[in-house]
Amino acid sequence: MPRRQGQGLRHPCGGYGAEAVLSPGPLRGGRRRTVLIVGAGLAGGRAAEALRGAGFEGRVVLVGDEPERPYERPPLSKELLTGALPRERVFLRPPGYYRDQRITLRRGRPVVQIDPAARRVTLDGGSRLRYDALLLTPGARPRRLGVPGEELPGVLALRTLADADRLRQALTGQPRVLVVGAGFLGCEVAAVARQAGHAVTVVEQGQVPMAGLGRAVGGFWAGVHRDHGVRLLTGETVTAFRGVGRVEAALTGRGELLPCDLVLVAVGVEPVTDLLAGTGVALENGIAVDEHCRTSRPDIYAAGDAASWWHPGRRLRLRVEHYDHAQNQGAAAARNLLGLAEPYAPIPYFWSQQYDLTLQHVGHAPSWDALVWRGPATGGTFSAFYLENDRVRACVAVNRFKDIAAARRLIALGQPVDPRRLGDDGVPLRDLLPPA
Ligand SMILES: Cc1cc2nc3c(=O)[nH]c(=O)nc-3n(C[C@H](O)[C@H](O)[C@H](O)COP(=O)(O)OP(=O)(O)OC[C@H]3O[C@@H](n4cnc5c(N)ncnc54)[C@H](O)[C@@H]3O)c2cc1C
Repeated sequence: MPRRQGQGLRHPCGGYGAEAVLSPGPLRGGRRRTVLIVGAGLAGGRAAEALRGAGFEGRVVLVGDEPERPYERPPLSKELLTGALPRERVFLRPPGYYRDQRITLRRGRPVVQIDPAARRVTLDGGSRLRYDALLLTPGARPRRLGVPGEELPGVLALRTLADADRLRQALTGQPRVLVVGAGFLGCEVAAVARQAGHAVTVVEQGQVPMAGLGRAVGGFWAGVHRDHGVRLLTGETVTAFRGVGRVEAALTGRGELLPCDLVLVAVGVEPVTDLLAGTGVALENGIAVDEHCRTSRPDIYAAGDAASWWHPGRRLRLRVEHYDHAQNQGAAAARNLLGLAEPYAPIPYFWSQQYDLTLQHVGHAPSWDALVWRGPATGGTFSAFYLENDRVRACVAVNRFKDIAAARRLIALGQPVDPRRLGDDGVPLRDLLPPA
């Protein structure tokens, strides 16, 4: 593979590293080339920044269907909702940044068609944009329940800043709040609403909130919400919403009528892939990309919530719907489409904030054969390690920030650990690691 060409490409670790091995990517020839990014969210925003950060001097065009410049979504279910964070603070960059960096930001219109043969996209309204390389970062959209009455005013979803503005407005006064779905989003909003003094009911079809964490850890969170006064109904669904002019009640699968003035439907998201219809780009639980964030077409890349990628370390295809991943994969895709053959192989990480508890999760454990607790869950601060054949695959920590760094190293090492020592809070986690 050729070494760095006259493209002004800087190695992401700083300097013009001779180690920056280039593949003949779609952007060779630099300055006159155009990278078009579809989706001006987190992954798209960070990708545009990374292109300039890597010294790319060609055109960067960032197209988003929302009226806003790129912003962070985590505060939308937390500090923005409580009012602790001013709206202006959610944006990735100040308004002048995009002009200064010569990033053309086109907002408020979706891309409705991609023509890979002509290397061109069409925006709603008919205007067309040409590209040399296309990066798709369209994110995900909330799933609907698909039950009668879901279109009634007062039944809301939460994905965008506009959704958060609506929800915040709807939470003024004293609405009785119903949250459908006890995933991370639903639980965060339930916590905010409860702390604001609202009557809150949560309906969850699984047996515990945040079921991906398992019965035991999910059970801890069920207790937290109930202790704060949330009425949590598990193993339950909503089959219809009722109301005249706006939502007044929800009917459950067991036939209970739950009176409510405001509903948040938070039953997960689905990757946005519809704009790929007819392009021939392979889909597999999202836009399928390889470890270099490349789709089945060599000049089209994808990243973030919308993309499922081949993880070379885990040797499986993953799609992750979390902040860290979206920004890191956006930046990795940008560097890869510049020709740096940099495999994207992270240990996934995410966090959630509910009441005065911060949950952090590192790793990926779709299944496990042992769960090792460390620290007293009763005190609201503990870690739980998900083990497979005595190897740490993932860790969730609640208000125990220091454990996450050690857990990450244990996961990366992939060596067997002694579960008894792992669970003994008296044994420092660093003692389980080999000397640095
Ligand atoms: C309320 C909320 C709270 C969250 N809290 C946390 C948290 O605490 N911790 C955590 O780890 N993660 C959290 N997340 C998840 C995290 O924010 C997402 O994983 C991340 O935003 C995904 O980034 P993305 O760029 O892939 O997608 P997005 O940020 O959704 O950006 C995609 C953008 O593309 C646009 N788009 C879609 N189709 C088109 C089109 N055809 N043309 C043009 N534009 C298009 C979309 O409108 C959107 O603006 C939260 C998410 C939400 C919604």
